Amino acid sequence: MPFVRHCVECPKCLTRYLIGFSPYRNRSYLVRNARNSRAEYVLNCSCKIPFVLSLWNEDELKSYEVCKTAHDRGYGTPEEIVRTGYYDSPDFVPLDTAELVRSILADKSKHLR
Ligand SMILES: [Zn+2]
Repeated sequence: MPFVRHCVECPKCLTRYLIGFSPYRNRSYLVRNARNSRAEYVLNCSCKIPFVLSLWNEDELKSYEVCKTAHDRGYGTPEEIVRTGYYDSPDFVPLDTAELVRSILADKSKHLR
């Protein structure tokens, strides 16, 4: 079972960082309620010198499924930390209506049994 956590993503290297695990082992860190900033979180990613800054507000945080390795580390690649949103997943393929009706009916008959 993957963990589901809020993450921020570095706009340069696309590394995803779990909220609450700062400072990270790669020297990146997340500052909460930084002074002189209206953003809730400031991510300082160590992929470049000077560090790459990105600003995040609470409502911009997205939920991700995090594998155990990345969870232990506190950050990971987009392969290890995957967006959970059902409808905005690139893998999401809408069912056609007939298929949808069939799946609803199949589900109903399951419950009747
Ligand atoms: Zn980065």
